[in-house]
Amino acid sequence: MPSPVAFLSHADCGRHDTGWGHPEHVGRLRAIPRALRGDPELFAELLHAEPRRATEDEIIGVHDARYVRAVSEVAASGGGHLDADTVASEGSWDAATAAVGCLLDGVDMVVDGRAQRAFCAVRPPGHHALRDRAMGFCLFGNVAIAAHYARAKHGLERVLIVDWDVHHGNGTQALVERERDIRFVSMHQWPWYPGTGAASDRGPHNSVWNVPMPAAHAPDVYLNAFLKAVDAATDGFTPDLLLISAGFDSLAGDPLGGFTLEPWHMAALTTQLVERASSWCGGRVVSALEGGYAPDRLGAACALHMRALAGLTTFGP
Ligand SMILES: [Zn+2]
Repeated sequence: MPSPVAFLSHADCGRHDTGWGHPEHVGRLRAIPRALRGDPELFAELLHAEPRRATEDEIIGVHDARYVRAVSEVAASGGGHLDADTVASEGSWDAATAAVGCLLDGVDMVVDGRAQRAFCAVRPPGHHALRDRAMGFCLFGNVAIAAHYARAKHGLERVLIVDWDVHHGNGTQALVERERDIRFVSMHQWPWYPGTGAASDRGPHNSVWNVPMPAAHAPDVYLNAFLKAVDAATDGFTPDLLLISAGFDSLAGDPLGGFTLEPWHMAALTTQLVERASSWCGGRVVSALEGGYAPDRLGAACALHMRALAGLTTFGP
């Protein structure tokens, strides 16, 4: 029997309280088990696990120690603003370390064979977080930390990170671009927040593929552009692990983006990535939630994304 797909979520991720009216709220996470309950076949297929929280030491190194301790202190003192649109509450340290822990456990599980793939339903998201500061709703670079961890802890050499969130994964890029054997593909709306991610920005080792795209194109245009970049990034580079920054704000109708994807487009993209991962590295994939601000759409798309990760049939319009 093939190894299952792990569904990793941690109750502490709900304790990051961004305040009334903030788009990055706990309702986003609650939509995911709600969608899973509507899909008993998928629910039964998944290996449900609550992972550990990451330790301070596992985050320091990728992030600046002073910044990591500052997040801990702000949370311990009851919370506060970390940047213009990023807040920490009393529960944010536990939430942010749980989010990183989900990713690290996901990596452990796909490497030791307990699972073949994993989806991490986490918040706060991570792909805007910089080495020494929070940004864009993100505290720690969940996926970037996982990439470094996979190499340091498990001795994997080459890691590919792909990011289909509607915003440029500027934090991920900053945290991995100095490492030649971590390659990063980000497709994002352009011009749009955070303003980085030009196609000409390839990082110091040409290990970054940025795919800036206008809003309101037909879905296939986005899918083709993304997969073309993935194929360019893996020309002569065979990943030992694929990490997905799964941002669902690239769905049509998201309040923070202008892309046109439907949940089944994410499933189709996932299937394409799983096929490639199967030829690269025995199908090892760890995917993590990034953005996505229409909770019901987010839940539906996460469920289809997990169906595709599990190799179950997905359905179109
Ligand atoms: Zn986003």
